[in-house]
Amino acid sequence: MGGIIGHWIGGRRVAGGERTAPVYDPARGVVQAEVALAGAAEVEAAVRAAAEALPGWAAAPPLRRARVLFRFRDLLEAHLDELAALIAREHGKVLADARGSLQRGLEVVEYACGAPELLKGEFTAAVGTGVDSHALFQPVGVCAGITPFNFPAMVPLWMFPVAIACGNTFVLKPSERVPSTALRLAELLAEAGLPPGVFNVVQGDREAVDALLAHPDVAAVSFVGSTPVAEHVYRTAAAHGKRVQALGGAKNHAVVLPDADPDHAAEALVGAAYGSAGERCMAISVAVAVGEETADALVAAIAARARALRVGPGTDPASEMGPLVTPEHLARVRGYVDLGVAEGAELVVDGRGLRVPGHEEGFFLGPCLFDRVRPSMRIWREEIFGPVLCVVRAADAEQALRIVNGHEYGNGAAVFTRSGRAARAFAERVEAGMVGINVPIPVPMAFHSFGGWKRSLFGPLHVHGPDGVRFYVRRKTVTARWPEGPDGGGLTMPVMR
Ligand code: NAD
Repeated sequence: MGGIIGHWIGGRRVAGGERTAPVYDPARGVVQAEVALAGAAEVEAAVRAAAEALPGWAAAPPLRRARVLFRFRDLLEAHLDELAALIAREHGKVLADARGSLQRGLEVVEYACGAPELLKGEFTAAVGTGVDSHALFQPVGVCAGITPFNFPAMVPLWMFPVAIACGNTFVLKPSERVPSTALRLAELLAEAGLPPGVFNVVQGDREAVDALLAHPDVAAVSFVGSTPVAEHVYRTAAAHGKRVQALGGAKNHAVVLPDADPDHAAEALVGAAYGSAGERCMAISVAVAVGEETADALVAAIAARARALRVGPGTDPASEMGPLVTPEHLARVRGYVDLGVAEGAELVVDGRGLRVPGHEEGFFLGPCLFDRVRPSMRIWREEIFGPVLCVVRAADAEQALRIVNGHEYGNGAAVFTRSGRAARAFAERVEAGMVGINVPIPVPMAFHSFGGWKRSLFGPLHVHGPDGVRFYVRRKTVTARWPEGPDGGGLTMPVMR
């Protein structure tokens, strides 16, 4: 077993916190290290380091900040395999998938390298005679990021490159289940030339989060995780006067219309449902098949592919799907499979009996496929966050759309069809923040913004892209004139002439 994984505060690794939590090797089913859990003192030290670094970093020209990010981008690329291995070891996902998620994170760094352009501001000459206006985009202050276990690098990378490009300083509280990647990112940022204190990492759980949410020197909070915690973070941070964006859980539906190519749809859905063992907020967890014929063909095609998936340790390049993250999460997901059977859904592919030779103690669950799931069932209503795909049968496209829109979550949604008209109507009417047309996982690129609707996002602004920049800056509008002397000011509301 390794040692105790600590924090990164003021540009160096530090220990601290009276409690620890286990960090598993999910493929072997053993504890590989302990992570320190920060208390109020560690959070205080991190926020203080960020507050002290703020004036210097905020005053640095955006071009200089961008140059640090250019170097960080190159270091990320140079260390891609090492970071992917770290992710696979603690999270369990397969190496190729970990590399893909790093690439998506790296693209946010590339976007943030455009800081001089992104922060250019606005100027209007002559808003009135001899009067000009310009808008400045200034940093918000110390920003906090609280992230989930399922993307140890990518989700933090959605946040801090944009925040620090905008002149803020940052405290990241990663998931305690996957603590190592954030520390490595901190080291690479330091190597890229980021001044100490601009980026800090506190490991911890609820106690650290609540200390950040109440801290008077934290100006903004970005959160990604489950909906109950997102709602708690949103309410608490707002009550403490902070700006907040809190991204929550999901139950993403893919509607398969009768004119879709069933093989293409099945192939896409298998990747979207079982990739990263279903531990993706943009995973497709419900397929809505329109018409009995479509449903029969789709279920048969998905079942054949699901049964053939190679499940094994994430670090084995031959594996297509890895284990779940912890024994508790494995038990929870298995519990949902048992529940679906009890609720009367038809379990077409049952992954519960899977044994991975040489890894019998690993947290593995094979792909599971339910047919004839109904919206009254809990396996439809609740987020399972594992390799479990539910097929719901709908009579027509209208009923399919009603099912999708009837769900409390609205992160992503997809439609499979050959009809442009049907696809356009779906995109127009579906209640979700990200929509795919023959694209199962429509994650927006770094220069667009990522976020859901309804109970998948609390707060008005999505992450990265233009919304990310808006979130991490304060607008200041300056109106200026240079009169030669008194020019007739009065007590009435001035109007521009
Ligand atoms: P989680 O909500 O359990 O934890 C997220 C973060 O909150 C972690 O840092 C954790 O330490 C902290 N936390 C946990 N419980 C807390 C509490 N009671 N009070 C304060 N902080 C607390 O989520 P998870 O299990 O790590 O991640 C999976 C969830 O994240 C899924 O619901 C998934 O859909 C969601 N997710 C959403 C998105 C998105 O973009 N909407 C992206 C990735 C993951």
